[in-house]
Amino acid sequence: MSAEFPAEVEVLRNRARPGIQSLAPYEPGKPIEELERELGLTDVIKLASNENPLGAGSLALAAATARLGEMERYPDGSGYQLKQALSRHHGLPESMITLGNGSNEVLDIVARVFAGPGDEIVFSAHCFVVYPIVTRIIGATPVQVPARAYGHDIEAMSAAITPATRLVFIANPNNPTGTWTEPAALKGLLDRAPRDCVIVVDEAYFEYAEGDSYPDATKWLGEYPNLVVTRTFSKAHGLASMRIGYALSHPAVADLMNRVRQPFNVNDPSMFAALAALEDRAHIERSVSMNRDGMQMLADGFDRLGLDYIPSIANFLTFDTGGNGAETYEALLRRGVIVRPIGGYGLPAHLRVTIGTEAENRRFLDALDVVLAKRQGSSR
Ligand SMILES: *Cc1c(COP(=O)(O)O)cnc(C)c1O
Repeated sequence: MSAEFPAEVEVLRNRARPGIQSLAPYEPGKPIEELERELGLTDVIKLASNENPLGAGSLALAAATARLGEMERYPDGSGYQLKQALSRHHGLPESMITLGNGSNEVLDIVARVFAGPGDEIVFSAHCFVVYPIVTRIIGATPVQVPARAYGHDIEAMSAAITPATRLVFIANPNNPTGTWTEPAALKGLLDRAPRDCVIVVDEAYFEYAEGDSYPDATKWLGEYPNLVVTRTFSKAHGLASMRIGYALSHPAVADLMNRVRQPFNVNDPSMFAALAALEDRAHIERSVSMNRDGMQMLADGFDRLGLDYIPSIANFLTFDTGGNGAETYEALLRRGVIVRPIGGYGLPAHLRVTIGTEAENRRFLDALDVVLAKRQGSSR
């Protein structure tokens, strides 16, 4: 790659800050249109980016559409209306909310507020890829803690906190593993962490996560000023393309984050879509219920195919292909099914599949069945 550039450009490339030189670009799930073009297919399904298979709710769609006539105007930089609605929704003051262009942006903002070169940021092996990316961009030192049964080892993460640690990232549940941290463990970490070390709990899949073994970290915000909880409209709300998420934190932390946030980071149609989505309980309930059924269907399917999967409380399942994940991914692509290879997350034998509609899940399982049968045939 570098050989293609003349020396004077190489000099420039070497000027990039060290964390950025070593950074691999984020690889998004393959778009449907791209695969259809490549294969000449018309019925490709994508179960690769944890999007809501039902799409956005009709209320959100109508609300965003109605705002398009205002596109010559800057959005409300304070996000007043959405913050009011979020404040009511969470029973927390607006001063605790920071809006982001997707929750990825608030993850980036919180890291930039608190950490820089020489500071340590703690996260788990197999964690959401944005944490290591953000850490390298700001020149902080990544401290990756080995996983336990694919999930966050909270004890070990607590133990990894040193006086140099500025931030700990915890995805609950985690992507790409679907694993989660139970209330007592999370509370234990919050109790043990120094008060000047920020604990970020990323709850992107909050709406899907059910049961008493899953904590709602927002209820601890009053107790721990160093706790930051992030949420998104990209997953259960079905607004991934609108790029809208937020952080909840102590007002003093939100004040700092709002200084770093670009003035008009969230656009107007997105804020109105989010506002409508927040009120659309019926759409969330339909989405969560479909996910519950789909999770069971895929789990049964993996059992039938004799494949291990990692128990998940999100809207995806990560399964062990029993072979080469990338090859299985390619074979599924050729059958018009896009899932997610996760070798880059340290799981080269696994693939992550987003729970889709019943028809999509069936199509995926059928394709996987054929792919595995072929693999067995060829290894004989
Ligand atoms: C999808 C996801 C996000 C959300 O990203 P957005 O920027 O809000 O679209 C955040 N954290 C995790 C763990 C995710 O999987």
